[in-house]
Amino acid sequence: MDAIAAAELNTSGEIRVHIDDTCKEDVLFQAAMKFKELKMDETKLKNGVLFYLAVSDQLFAIIGDKGINEKVEPGFWDNIKETMLTYFKQGLFTEGLCTGIGLAGEKLKNHFPLATDDTDELSNEVTFNQ
Ligand code: CA
Ligand code: CA
Repeated sequence: MDAIAAAELNTSGEIRVHIDDTCKEDVLFQAAMKFKELKMDETKLKNGVLFYLAVSDQLFAIIGDKGINEKVEPGFWDNIKETMLTYFKQGLFTEGLCTGIGLAGEKLKNHFPLATDDTDELSNEVTFNQ
């Protein structure tokens, strides 16, 4: 996904997107499960970020690994979520998602600048419910 690759040019943080149809659990719980399943807790700096979306249920969550949570203020993701919601409410799904990813890259840059030896630790491909 180009939006992820572009955002990762700003930061060593690793962003992924997972899209489910429905979410039967609490959305934060489900996102945390998926975070582990995708091995997103294995980045060197513990700075993986998952955008989890359940489209039919119109739920989404953003989960950051502990390296991020240790460095940022509480509510770090809230204004990204609010911005995404304003798009989603207009039916602009892709735009909202791409904007959120871009904002995450910008925000992460301050705490996790891109290193010269950066590698793409986590795939930039979107995963879907299997
Ligand atoms: Ca990287
Ligand atoms: Ca990546």
